[in-house]
Amino acid sequence: MSTLRFKVVEEAFNRKAVPVETPAERPEVYYAKAVFNRRKMFEYLPKATYDALITAIEDKKPISRDLADSVADGMKRWAVDNGARHYTHWFHPLTDGTAEKHDAFIEHDGKGGVVEEFSGKLLVQQEPDASSFPNGGIRNTFEARGYSAWDISSPAFILDGTLCIPTIFISYTGESLDYKTPLLRALNAVDKAATSVARFFDPEVKHVKSYLGWEQEYFLVDEALYSARPDLTLTGRTLMGHESAKNQQLEDHYFGSIPSRVEAFMLDLEIEAHKLGIPVKTRHNEVAPNQFELAPIYEETNLANDHNLLIMSLMGEVARRHNFRVLLHEKPFAGVNGSGKHNNWSLGTDSGTLLFSPGKTAKDNLQFLTFIINVMAAVHKHNALLKASIMSATNCHRLGANEAPPAIISIFTGSQIERVLDMLENATTEQLANLSAKSEISVGLAQIPEILIDNTDRNRTSPFAFTGNRFEFRAVGSSANCACSMIAINAAVADQLNTFHAAVEARMVKGISVEDAILEELRALIKAHKAIQFNGNGYSEEWKAEAARRGLDCETSAPLIFDAYLTPESVAMFDRTGVFSKIELEARNEVKWEMYTKKVQIEARVLGDLAINHVIPVATRYQSLLVDNVVKLKSLFPGVKGAKVVAHDLDTIEKISEHMDVIKTETDAMIEARKAANHIENEREKAIAYHDNVVPAMETIRRHIDKLELMVDNEMWPLPKYRELLFIR
Ligand code: ADP
Ligand code: MG
Repeated sequence: MSTLRFKVVEEAFNRKAVPVETPAERPEVYYAKAVFNRRKMFEYLPKATYDALITAIEDKKPISRDLADSVADGMKRWAVDNGARHYTHWFHPLTDGTAEKHDAFIEHDGKGGVVEEFSGKLLVQQEPDASSFPNGGIRNTFEARGYSAWDISSPAFILDGTLCIPTIFISYTGESLDYKTPLLRALNAVDKAATSVARFFDPEVKHVKSYLGWEQEYFLVDEALYSARPDLTLTGRTLMGHESAKNQQLEDHYFGSIPSRVEAFMLDLEIEAHKLGIPVKTRHNEVAPNQFELAPIYEETNLANDHNLLIMSLMGEVARRHNFRVLLHEKPFAGVNGSGKHNNWSLGTDSGTLLFSPGKTAKDNLQFLTFIINVMAAVHKHNALLKASIMSATNCHRLGANEAPPAIISIFTGSQIERVLDMLENATTEQLANLSAKSEISVGLAQIPEILIDNTDRNRTSPFAFTGNRFEFRAVGSSANCACSMIAINAAVADQLNTFHAAVEARMVKGISVEDAILEELRALIKAHKAIQFNGNGYSEEWKAEAARRGLDCETSAPLIFDAYLTPESVAMFDRTGVFSKIELEARNEVKWEMYTKKVQIEARVLGDLAINHVIPVATRYQSLLVDNVVKLKSLFPGVKGAKVVAHDLDTIEKISEHMDVIKTETDAMIEARKAANHIENEREKAIAYHDNVVPAMETIRRHIDKLELMVDNEMWPLPKYRELLFIR
């Protein structure tokens, strides 16, 4: 009898909410308490240092060594006043999550004791021994070491008694080895490009900022149940498990009342997040049982991404206090929804205008259309790349299934914008002249604000949807580093805006007014790129066929999807925008393929182990019980009657044999496929072999294990079942 399973189920079901110690103060008081933000800088830095640092941050300029020394001194005093003993450069290597190596502030004082010190040199730059971080061949161990350098645009913070300094991580030859470096480059590129286009409308614009508001979805599982599932502990998802009779079909979980244990976890997490200056605001149940969502107020993209990475690790920590484990995997359970991380993305000027937001005047709306249409053009040109930017060994289980965005990138604009674009494309010269007229009564442009007010037709099947003042990139996976998608979209849009700017200027040279030049160029863009616009059902089979006809990328194999980073168009775009060199792109793809292979490899090993050491022995034991029973029944009822009495058992015995046979054969085949793949040197080819030969065997094995789960005596089944994992009391 599977005593372990019953023990953990009982433990989980009897668990009560863990009380949360709420601070005596309101959030206004403890918000950002653990962050060296401007208020703390002002308090701890000499006035001249403070002014110089703020100027450097705003102008994105490097800081001098003297300035760094002065900042480091103030930062250390603040950190020590707040209980910190260690400091670390906090960076985002090309793995899941963040990296840190803690050093104490102590230095010898020359008299046999120590003093606590922190110099500008240590603040600004470090050389973490990073030879074991993935680098795709850029850093062979005999090459120069990598170094991390302070990102002054993201404030330092204290986490668990350690001062964390957000940094970039690059090789001595300047190649990026992390996510942050190219993200900062892409944000720079979009700032420059969008500023020059925004100046067509307002010459006073100095900067354009990119904003990100992520919506983090996740599952919670009781820790006792989690520990009893080797697949969850080792791979973050269940590799087997028959669907529960009840899962999400009654739609009773979404926005339902939050279980008290979960509510306590959420409150605890929010308090911790607020202390770290992460403006989390929204929480609710998601569609699947045990699935939830957390979202902050949007921030500038670089900071928002740091905050997302921070919250992902914070969630894990806080969950343990509440005897939960957080699952950030995109598809932890088959048969119920997976988890995404919608990236709400927009651009705004330094004077506060959101560029994807329609305005009150025709001029504002021409600006609005300019940015919307250029985004469409960029997404169309680079649809394969954008898909590659969100693809991973884990997210591929979610995309294309019937509840997530399809594995084809298109833009949902809503019917009103579609109508405006149609009108613009097909307007006669006379209508066009009327459109560009600055008078408020001009047809079309001036009316956009009114028609957008009721732009509530939300399309949940679109991977990239316009939602009134921003785009929602919904295909991003729950465990992803948002930098991947944000690098791709900001770089692609920057490049497109540069092209647009040049084209408009070329028309103006011929003596056309700026408004007319813009309108003509926009018409050309709509004609060339309207194929990316799709307002229908993205889950339908017809759309797949239609998308292929439109020439959109329909590839579904993750290792092949990654190829989009290395097409001549992508390489040229990243080169023009200064975001990635070709060497960097090649190195990163090596890492992507390697990661894909390793993740599938681990899953295949775990599944093989579960199949052979857990499932087959239990199924054999149950089968042999049935065989005993048949023998006994036959001796009790000889002849025709006996044959009838044992017929059902015989049928079950045979079916169990059939399933076990497939499981054994396919496990052997899977092991052989793995061995063959492991001999392949080329990372891309190896990942393809894993995708084509290992994954299908895993799917077959699972199907048959899940069938056995329904047949074998419930008391014998070793692993917690979906119905036990998925419903928190
Ligand atoms: P939903 O209905 O999709 O859940 P919410 O209003 O909850 O939408 O917003 C989701 C996220 O989008 C939040 O993080 C929010 O701050 C963010 N957001 C709102 N406006 C913008 C914007 N202009 N740019 C970027 N993110 C935004
Ligand atoms: Mg949303």
